[in-house]
Amino acid sequence: MVVIRDLHKRFGDLEVLKGISLDIKKGEVVVILGPSGSGKSTILRCINRLEEPTSGHIFIEGQEITGKKADLNKMRQKVGMVFQQFNLFPHMTALGNVTMAPLRVQKKSKQEADRIGLELLKKVGLSEKANSYPMQLSGGQQQRVAIARALAMKPDVMLFDEVTSALDPELVKEVLDVMKNLAMDGMTMIVVTHEMNFAKEVGDRIILIDGGVIVEQNTPDQFFTNPQHERTKKFLNMIK
Ligand code: ADP
Ligand code: MG
Repeated sequence: MVVIRDLHKRFGDLEVLKGISLDIKKGEVVVILGPSGSGKSTILRCINRLEEPTSGHIFIEGQEITGKKADLNKMRQKVGMVFQQFNLFPHMTALGNVTMAPLRVQKKSKQEADRIGLELLKKVGLSEKANSYPMQLSGGQQQRVAIARALAMKPDVMLFDEVTSALDPELVKEVLDVMKNLAMDGMTMIVVTHEMNFAKEVGDRIILIDGGVIVEQNTPDQFFTNPQHERTKKFLNMIK
């Protein structure tokens, strides 16, 4: 589903990614861990081309999305992304936020877009909030709207960048539960998170990034109970 080959990203003199290669299968949930500043967000941002890789190649379902010839609009429809900050449009209702892409990008009728939007709001447990504005919603509810909005494009893969980090502790679970349900539905997901219980329970594979490279990757069971590398052991001790 997603193939990353020798991805490099440099910001001026700073080489953030020094050759990342990764294959992600359809339906797989890959959790990326790593210290702050290690390039986790940069990887996700390269996958949906919010950042241009310095070199290397990324393919989604066999189509190269790197390089000048890539159709960014088409590609962004294949990749849904949710951020730490919810980034909802404040002047639009929850339903308005979710239906925007179906209406404007996919040119669906209002009726069809609303049908899709209401279905997605139901999926994230917010049927009752369709007509509420972001300001009237809790952080957890806003983040669930953001997830529904990303799903509205029917993406092949969903990217989550620390989506619970800005939430009050009591609101984290409702968002993780939505993500867990998505994973169980078979969505291909790349998740950057500090929620180790989620990583253990929902992840198919855990990856540690540090110093611009993949230090270690393994099943959650092996990763957490039998880390192979010193840096992984250090990282796990740090977050305990
Ligand atoms: P993480 O998500 O793992 O915390 P990031 O991918 O956000 O790390 O950032 C990795 C490094 O790249 C950091 O040192 C950060 O300061 C730097 N960086 C990220 N984006 C930019 C940018 N647009 N311009 C310059 N430096 C950047
Ligand atoms: Mg980040």
